[in-house]
Amino acid sequence: MPHILIVEDEAAIADTLIFALQGEGFTTTWLSLGAMALEHQRQTPADLIILDIGLPDISGFETCRQLRRFSEVPVLFLSARDAEIDRVVGLEIGADDYVVKPFSPREVAARVRAILKRMAPRPVNEPVSTLFRIDPERVQISYRGQPLSLTRHEFRLLQCLLEQPERVFSREQLLDALGVAADAGYERSIDSHIKSVRAKLRLVRADAEPIQTHRGLGYSYSPGHS
Ligand code: CA
Repeated sequence: MPHILIVEDEAAIADTLIFALQGEGFTTTWLSLGAMALEHQRQTPADLIILDIGLPDISGFETCRQLRRFSEVPVLFLSARDAEIDRVVGLEIGADDYVVKPFSPREVAARVRAILKRMAPRPVNEPVSTLFRIDPERVQISYRGQPLSLTRHEFRLLQCLLEQPERVFSREQLLDALGVAADAGYERSIDSHIKSVRAKLRLVRADAEPIQTHRGLGYSYSPGHS
């Protein structure tokens, strides 16, 4: 039974979330301060955190930044303004998804389910290829036996490509895999993530190009070029 930590200072909003999440079979804890949430996550780690951006003590952004020093727990941001979302995506503070207020609690519950499903570990030691190995629990991918130092977004991106070799993913589909809304105009950020992943792969093997560019279409993982 996944446990969801709700960090929200408005009781009415927290109540609707608790009701919707418990209705879906989740257990919940509700806290109203960022500092309390950090402490709670250290003591009793939740499976996912719903984090309001506007909190009375430290902002949701700062809470997430501090959280990422010790936890990879998925975070779903609650935002009061569309403008805040630019920061969620732009700063890559490690958010998994976001919803803008006012939202439907059922929509939030559905997003929570989707994130947890995405995070579900694959069967242990199931190799995606002979050259790459994915360890979802540690958010780690090894290439030719060497662990890659990837950001969360880079990890998701590479994981998505590796899991379906030779499939061409559009930028929109890759954004979707990152849990970022495709209509937000962040497609170019995919290109910079890919560039960064390629640079890290080249550190392991300079002459291989496992990620192929398909002009006008997107990207794929090509085992033949690994
Ligand atoms: Ca608030």
